[in-house]
Amino acid sequence: MSSLTDTIAAISTPLVPSAIGILRLSGPKALDIARKQFRPLGARPLLDHLPRELVFGDLLDRDGAPIDRCLCTFSRGPASYTGEDTAEFQCHGSPMVLSLGLEALFAQGARQAGPGEFTRRAFLNGRLDLAQAEAVGDLLEARSREGARHAAGQLTGALSQKIGDIYSALVDVMAHFHAVLDYPDEDIDPFRMEELSHTLQAQLETLDALLATCRRGRQLTQGLSCALVGRPNAGKSSLLNALAGYDRAIVTDIPGTTRDTLEVSMELGGLPVRLIDTAGLRDSDDPIERLGVARSRSAMEQAELILVLWDSALPVTEEDLQLLLHSMSLAPTILVWTKGDLPSAPVPFLNLDPLPPVVTISSKTGQGLQELEEAVAALFPRPSDLPYGQLLTNQRQEDAARRARQAVAQAEEALMAGVTPDALLTDVEEALQALGELTGQCVREDVTDRIFSKFCVGK
Ligand code: GDP
Repeated sequence: MSSLTDTIAAISTPLVPSAIGILRLSGPKALDIARKQFRPLGARPLLDHLPRELVFGDLLDRDGAPIDRCLCTFSRGPASYTGEDTAEFQCHGSPMVLSLGLEALFAQGARQAGPGEFTRRAFLNGRLDLAQAEAVGDLLEARSREGARHAAGQLTGALSQKIGDIYSALVDVMAHFHAVLDYPDEDIDPFRMEELSHTLQAQLETLDALLATCRRGRQLTQGLSCALVGRPNAGKSSLLNALAGYDRAIVTDIPGTTRDTLEVSMELGGLPVRLIDTAGLRDSDDPIERLGVARSRSAMEQAELILVLWDSALPVTEEDLQLLLHSMSLAPTILVWTKGDLPSAPVPFLNLDPLPPVVTISSKTGQGLQELEEAVAALFPRPSDLPYGQLLTNQRQEDAARRARQAVAQAEEALMAGVTPDALLTDVEEALQALGELTGQCVREDVTDRIFSKFCVGK
């Protein structure tokens, strides 16, 4: 990635005709370029206006001809998103206007911004820490309301604050041991020892609570994998289509039509869910169908939620029952009676303990789909004691928190075992290092490169 001395520019909105399109500039030449390419309607030149004021005027192309009547606003570093001088043009959302505008900015010496480069600069200039920068990505890609709220919470610093509290408690512990090292002849006061041990234990508890959020964080960012299983013709593809709201899966009444697994992402019961339509689970001589059945089994084994579909118009078979029992042994399971709009076959008494949640639906009429969503939400409720933003949402954060936890546990054990302060300091330093990686205080450049490369251009 090039240096911060460049001025970067990008179109920050999708290149499709839309109400508004935004061009963005950041870097040492941003204000000078904006001044040359934007002509305010009033008498005052652009830079005589206040920072962050919206100024009405004409955006000019590289030859100085107006290409849009729009709004411009600028900020002076460090009081800006990137921490640098920035300018933004809020244009009509015309792909052609935005392209001509961008060309003009390039002609004045700006260069194309790379993926996530604005946010990367915000991080490098200390405007956001790494957890907050990752939250920007999570917010853009949020696929559920809860996910968006958590990302917004992280963006405002909820996670960073929590990590910061642990960090500062550990720095206090470290300061104490440094003092002891400076005066090796003095023993540590037993009362002080107990206090330090309590501090370390409290940090362990906080880190444990944080690590317990990883599962929810992963589900919110990556989606809960949910397998639809059942005999061929049970109505799996129809349910997938009904939930997705469009015909993604081919629905026919020839058993075995869905030969492979098919995945659709959607919000279900407030959670982002990857719904996997499996090939009907049945013995078949067709090698392709057999392959599909094998994939179905694997999807089922990896699923975090299984919907077992039973056709309510047909008698329940031993095979149906076995499938339900097997699913319940693998993951939280909901029993879904399908085709609720048809006359139902006799319903057997299910002698199961516990009984799974049972919902009757019709993909034809939409009956029961709301209840199905509610059943999913009830199986994966939002932890009531989890404030928005105070959760770990990716592997990198989880690894760092786990290393910090391990180091704090070692320090605590060492303290109790009466190990010398210098050995204990090594553990505390290791914990601080791991926490610093989490918020980006000390993190390798290739790690930040990887994080920002996943962002879109213009963010
Ligand atoms: P799959 O093999 O489990 O994926 O089953 P499909 O979704 O392909 O459905 C098999 C047959 O059942 C098709 O003819 C569907 O139109 C029919 N079907 C599916 N759901 C319903 C429903 O809710 N009501 C009625 N009446 N028919 C349904």
